[in-house]
Amino acid sequence: MDINNLKVLFTEEQIQTRIKELANEMNKFYGNEEVYAVCVLKGAVMFATDLVKSLSMPVKMEFIRLSSYNGGTTTSGKVNAVDISLPDLNEKNVLIIEDIVDTGLTAKFLLDFMNCNFHTKSTKFCSLLDKKVARVTDVEPDYYGFEVDDKFLIGYGLDYDGYYRNLTYIGYTDKSELE
Ligand code: 5GP
Repeated sequence: MDINNLKVLFTEEQIQTRIKELANEMNKFYGNEEVYAVCVLKGAVMFATDLVKSLSMPVKMEFIRLSSYNGGTTTSGKVNAVDISLPDLNEKNVLIIEDIVDTGLTAKFLLDFMNCNFHTKSTKFCSLLDKKVARVTDVEPDYYGFEVDDKFLIGYGLDYDGYYRNLTYIGYTDKSELE
């Protein structure tokens, strides 16, 4: 894939503005209650770190690592828990932070995991991007930044074969470019 053929979908400014709006909503919802922000690696790392900077309540950050993609541009349809060690989250406010909800299998896996392992005070799911058209589960994020079409997106945490997570914007490329 040639990075020069990437078309910009959301600029850095659009992303940062939307993140501040989401944080404001969360600040209103949680007030001064402590929140455990659970970042799903690797894709959500940029989003999670920017989001928490605008949260005003006491925040603890946790990181878990899952994988469902085959390394390229296709999902395996099966979620693998690479590292999901978490502290005791009983009676805690948990905010799961994802880069994108696509089929929703990862979100469902995580919400089931939380339900099975903890009696949290609250569990909210936040995703920067929501690819609603690709959904195969009935999971909906409580917070999302932008709804997107069924395109393969790259940048701001989202990779292509491990690359381009460091882009400050989110772009897409024609399917033919990815073959
Ligand atoms: P889901 O389980 O909802 O199908 O997919 C969740 C994961 O698939 C995301 O966390 C992300 O890592 C990956 N994913 C889904 N859509 C895209 C996309 O358009 N681009 C990239 N780079 N990864 C995606």
